[in-house]
Amino acid sequence: MQLRIRGVVQGVGFRPWIYNLARRHGLAGFVLNSPRGVFIEAEGSPKSLEAFLSAMRTEAPPLVRIAAIDRAEITPLGEIDFVIRHSEAGESAFALIPPDICVCEACLADTRDPGNRRFDYPFTNCTNCGPRYSIILDVPYDRPMTTMAEFAMCDACRVEYENPEDRRFHAQPNACPVCGPRLSLRLPADPAQQTSSARAILERVGEVLRGGGIVAWKGLGGYQLACDARQSAAVDELRRRKRRSEKPFAIMVGDLATAESLCFVADEERKALLSPERPIVLLHRRPGADLAEGVSPGNPATGVMLPCTPMHDLLFRILGEQWGAAPALIMTSGNVSEEPIVIDNAEAEEHLAGIADLFAHHDRRIHTRVDDSVVRVAAGSVMLMRRARGYAPQPVFLGRGEAEVLACGAQQKNTLCLTRAGFAIPSQHLGDLENFETLRFFEETLERMRRLFHVTPTAVAHDLHPGYLSTQLALKMEGVRHMGVQHHLAHIASCMAEHGLDGRVIGVAWDGTGFGTDGTIWGGEFLSAEYAGFERYARLRPVLLAGGDSGVREPWRVARSYLIETFGSVPNASPWDQMAAPDRIRIVDAMLQRRVSTIPTSSAGRLFDAVASLIGLRHSVSFEGQAAMMLEAAADAWAGPPDPPYDFAITVATPIDVDLRPTIRAIVEDVRRGEPQPRISARFHTTLVAIIAAICRRMRADLTLDRVCLSGGCFQNARLLEGCVQSLRDDGFTVYFQQAVPANDGGIALGQAAIACEILRGGA
Ligand SMILES: [Zn+2]
Ligand SMILES: [Zn+2]
Repeated sequence: MQLRIRGVVQGVGFRPWIYNLARRHGLAGFVLNSPRGVFIEAEGSPKSLEAFLSAMRTEAPPLVRIAAIDRAEITPLGEIDFVIRHSEAGESAFALIPPDICVCEACLADTRDPGNRRFDYPFTNCTNCGPRYSIILDVPYDRPMTTMAEFAMCDACRVEYENPEDRRFHAQPNACPVCGPRLSLRLPADPAQQTSSARAILERVGEVLRGGGIVAWKGLGGYQLACDARQSAAVDELRRRKRRSEKPFAIMVGDLATAESLCFVADEERKALLSPERPIVLLHRRPGADLAEGVSPGNPATGVMLPCTPMHDLLFRILGEQWGAAPALIMTSGNVSEEPIVIDNAEAEEHLAGIADLFAHHDRRIHTRVDDSVVRVAAGSVMLMRRARGYAPQPVFLGRGEAEVLACGAQQKNTLCLTRAGFAIPSQHLGDLENFETLRFFEETLERMRRLFHVTPTAVAHDLHPGYLSTQLALKMEGVRHMGVQHHLAHIASCMAEHGLDGRVIGVAWDGTGFGTDGTIWGGEFLSAEYAGFERYARLRPVLLAGGDSGVREPWRVARSYLIETFGSVPNASPWDQMAAPDRIRIVDAMLQRRVSTIPTSSAGRLFDAVASLIGLRHSVSFEGQAAMMLEAAADAWAGPPDPPYDFAITVATPIDVDLRPTIRAIVEDVRRGEPQPRISARFHTTLVAIIAAICRRMRADLTLDRVCLSGGCFQNARLLEGCVQSLRDDGFTVYFQQAVPANDGGIALGQAAIACEILRGGA
């Protein structure tokens, strides 16, 4: 039997594992790495061969991700032994690279054992764990091609590295206190770097944190800013220095028990907290949880993560000893405002000078910046909100030809995506392409990924929005084919690619903003979609947005628009007189009534904004999606019996319009009657689920489609997502939503890439 295995199978301990597995099953043959995947020839009894194959699927080491196994039968050669053959050098070596993975149990035990030579050593790792993507400079993935090249292994480490039976066989970042990286300390006022033992340094960090100070310390994929999450003054000071007004901070706690004492943790959430990716998991706080109000102001959810490296674990052990209580720390990206996360020691001291009271550095360079990932559990699944450390650069197997393309993504929460050999490789979260630093990060990541994965794109896919920097970058590239992809089709294609779907689907793409083919802003779309194209079957009936995209920070503007659409004018002496300053209200009303400086939008995100403002939850916001988040939280607080959906109308036209004026009228009446905000919010969500179910039923009847893909940022709202998934499944639909890549614009690049590959494969 001959096997070719594709996926993340190199540099992850796969060959020694195969070697041991084959021997266990009494097979003969060989395993080798090649630019086209791992090749195996194995001979033995049919029963052993099948057992060997099935173990490959179910028991592979933690970092291995098998995307495809090609199998061919060959004549047995009568081999008697199983061997690891030397790797085949390829002209253009291509290997998928594993993400950075949290410390494994065995390594953690080493660092906690006073008798072990790695006791308290912050950089302990093995073949199954530790840094990868953040330290790899180039392939083949070998120590000289990582930022560990500058550390020569001591004899003890080398013995482990060379022994196929050892957990550290070919662990490229293998290190110990004798030969590996070290921590150092730096006070902003004192130019001297202080070096001493890791424990002494982290004890100092603990003292500063306990005194209410802010520490910048070098984590796995970049610097993190930490302070005591229970001291309000420290948290408020961090907000002030970081220029971050209300966006929630994530916290890190030392163990699961502490997480459970602060928040409700369901089974799937527990699994996510403990998973090797170690993401930030959004959890509901327990009433009266001992955390400063400033951690996530006005928001019942808090992002929580557990230690992901031995260094984090050691700090929490030391804090536990020092403080005598289970510590909870803010652990947020080391950056100013929305800039990329800082990775370099000197860069940290420069950029974070006004923020940190103390710097804890180390001397292992971070080559690639990778922020912490954020997930939430919804509809029984882990759903990526921000995909970075632990996940990037995990590939998605497209299998749509072997074209090499670059997809540039959108504007907000940008990622890019490259394809090679049938795989799409989405980058880590890069950020909003609105400042010079993030743009530089985009270009840096593109350059590095192109080199790392040996990709020479022949086509560049981009959004249709002419104002997006990602579009402008794409159009500036020469000698490549440019492919504009409609924003909402890209969302649906991303969902299809993630689930390996083909053919045509019902695509429900609901988000804040996306450029439509008619030059207006879309965002409440029902598409009959396939990779090669789409028809806009239905949409939310457009309303006018006064002041265009600038209206996004001021939900009251779109609330006025819905009121004027519904009633012709805003009723006098209504509670809606206090939405903004009277003169600003007058100006916006005049713009809307005369239709000047306005743009029509079918955006579902703006509908959330409008309702949040109409019911008095929030008239202006400090980050996009804040109003929708508050509306979801308000709905979750409704404990009464569920209400039926509000009325809405469906207008027969092409595309079909979902007319929300009856809904708005009913909400206005509810507000006047003094119905509580949670009740109105819950009923509003129920209405949206009913709208989606009604249109999907119509599409099934008209187009004989019964697979639904839900994508776009609105489906990060767990209440909306769960309502739709349940209602559509009950109705016999097969429902797909995004899990491994974000439903928001962070997932757009994958969709663009899949579409480009399909078009190139079709020769169009
Ligand atoms: Zn390990
Ligand atoms: Zn060593």
